[in-house]
Amino acid sequence: MVVTAGVRDRARAAMLGFGVGDALGATTEFMTPVEIRHRYGVHRTLRGGGWLRLRPGQVTDDTGMLLALAEAVAESGRWDLEAIARGFVTWLRSRPVDVGATCARGIRRFLVEGTLQAPPGEWDAGNGGAMRAPAAGIASLSSPLAAGGRAVRQARITHNHPLSDAASAAVALMVRAAVLGLGFEAVDRVARALGRRHPAFRATGVRPVSSPYVADTLRTVLYFLRTTRSFEECLVGVVNQGGDADTAGAIAGSLGGGLGGTAAIPRPWLRRLDPQVRDRLEVAAENLIRLGG
Ligand code: MN
Ligand code: MN
Repeated sequence: MVVTAGVRDRARAAMLGFGVGDALGATTEFMTPVEIRHRYGVHRTLRGGGWLRLRPGQVTDDTGMLLALAEAVAESGRWDLEAIARGFVTWLRSRPVDVGATCARGIRRFLVEGTLQAPPGEWDAGNGGAMRAPAAGIASLSSPLAAGGRAVRQARITHNHPLSDAASAAVALMVRAAVLGLGFEAVDRVARALGRRHPAFRATGVRPVSSPYVADTLRTVLYFLRTTRSFEECLVGVVNQGGDADTAGAIAGSLGGGLGGTAAIPRPWLRRLDPQVRDRLEVAAENLIRLGG
């Protein structure tokens, strides 16, 4: 396929938006909306802090694992699960600021047993697989089938649950549609299909709060994607709900960036994002496009 300048820009924005959403949401991770309002009014700057006591613009495990995955597949030149798992090991050994329990368990299992798929687990409907899925979407621009399959396979290194599978595939397909320039309708079509197959992802009418449960997180992302009119408004809405705010922020940022391109991301947020992370995300975007181009 021909990669236009627009596709390239939206892929960069899908990666940069992910990092920005992670850094923005990390401040309010695990807080309730009331606690956030009391403390910040409306939280809308990359101020750092949070339970991890981050520097302004610092990212967390979400961006760390996304980059580990993207850099592993770039180096091996294909969607190599073993290379991805080894990338996760290297990342875990780099002493990241945090790591999800299910992700840590999956990485340890790979180290001990060498297996590339977690056994099915009723507690594995967490966010870890879906949060890394944007990389599968950007790497599979020429094939929706590949996008979904790659998203599920990387997810299962740490998470093996039907809802994680479904969410991971959907996130990859949504990011892919956004980066290809197919617009919000195409993204929402993927989301509606997900809700038809798994009612847990359906909108309920109540303003959702993200949590370590992937259906809560995706419902929150989709609610604000559907009810806001800009990247900034969407992300501010998502992260001020608290809960798993950085993970929801990262996924929303990837979708919002993919839809609107780099111009949609507020300049002060991009400027504040850790410069080393920003560079790595931009390089990763270029390398991921090459995989499916
Ligand atoms: Mn995180
Ligand atoms: Mn999180």
